[in-house]
Amino acid sequence: MKIINATLRKTPGLHTVMCEGEHISAITLQSAHVPPQAGDIDAQGQLLIAPFVEPHIHLDAALTAGQPEWNLSGTLFEGIERWAQRKETITHEDTKQRAHTTLRMLAEHGIQHVRTHVDVTDPTLAALRAMIEVREETRHLINLQIVAFPQEDIESYAGGRELMTLAVELGADVVGGIPHFENTREQGVSSIKFLMDLAERTGCLVDVHCDETDDPHSRFLEVLAEEARVRGMGSRVTASHTTAMGSYDNAYCSKLFRLLKASGINFVSCPTESIHLQGRFDTFPKRRGVTRVAELDRAGMNVCFGQDSIKDPWYPLGNGNILRVLDAGLHICHMMGFEDLARSLDLVTDNSARTLDLGERYGIAVGRPANMLVLDAESDYEAVRRQAKARVSIRGGKVLMTRVPERVEFS
Ligand SMILES: [Zn+2]
Repeated sequence: MKIINATLRKTPGLHTVMCEGEHISAITLQSAHVPPQAGDIDAQGQLLIAPFVEPHIHLDAALTAGQPEWNLSGTLFEGIERWAQRKETITHEDTKQRAHTTLRMLAEHGIQHVRTHVDVTDPTLAALRAMIEVREETRHLINLQIVAFPQEDIESYAGGRELMTLAVELGADVVGGIPHFENTREQGVSSIKFLMDLAERTGCLVDVHCDETDDPHSRFLEVLAEEARVRGMGSRVTASHTTAMGSYDNAYCSKLFRLLKASGINFVSCPTESIHLQGRFDTFPKRRGVTRVAELDRAGMNVCFGQDSIKDPWYPLGNGNILRVLDAGLHICHMMGFEDLARSLDLVTDNSARTLDLGERYGIAVGRPANMLVLDAESDYEAVRRQAKARVSIRGGKVLMTRVPERVEFS
């Protein structure tokens, strides 16, 4: 396979990218635009990028909004009530079918790597067992990382530790947590020590729902970062949400940033979900309830954007398009300066790949897997401004999907 007339991010000129088998075999700079031969994919000067990444989603709850009742207040708390109703009717096939449908929506938007959290506070681990099957059945579309996510806590839930351990034995790739939701601060701290031990022992990655609250006293991020620093595990550890950081005062945050940087951990922000669910205890002025994305980025730390939910009891919208979340996130996080816009795809590609610890399994470089997208835009700026779609998605050196651009005709 050969892709010609491709613009690569952060590299001037047009390029030809050759694939052999499932890998990229050569990348050459063209001296001029070249005419396509039979079988070539002509990027027509548009961006050829590594696939989009979805670093934080809950596939086990996706597509359940309104079943049996809608969340009328839109709050997290009514979401939990609606989810409890829906949970009663969940079956193995139902979980699998919704996960398959959602993954196809993500793949349609050029996403080829997904990290899903799956609730393991269920003595039968039904959703986890279903998702492990889905991981195998969708390998042609995407690479799926499964997080053992203790929605109802580790220490405050009966048998929580055993369920987390069993989830990893069954095949979860990533150890999760929710320390701010545990009954006491001590249980939150102890849950982090437990989950870090489990990850260190088993070689799993770590991704913790950390301080997903507007409570400025929720300070589990420092505990997670210090555990990661001391164990030298930072690059394998992710703190998701950290929305309390949006409410920390600057004096504490400046000390915290020193530790965060030393720890080398990754951050995921889900700006559409957080702006919707946080700030609910405020009248006015109302906080945004989002972590300090621009500040983490400026300090040289790795931060990326995720969707979190698609049409579930907590968040009724979403369609798989990560550029929609990028657009909203850039607004919400005050990142609309041109330098931010001109490298904005970092937040949904390279930074997310680093969070997922994909290493040399990701990126447009010789020897790496031939997974790529031709985007309907020539730059990061135009991609986000026009909400560009993937024209061609290539996976394992083969065309996975093509899209016919829509045409508008005025009469
Ligand atoms: Zn989440």
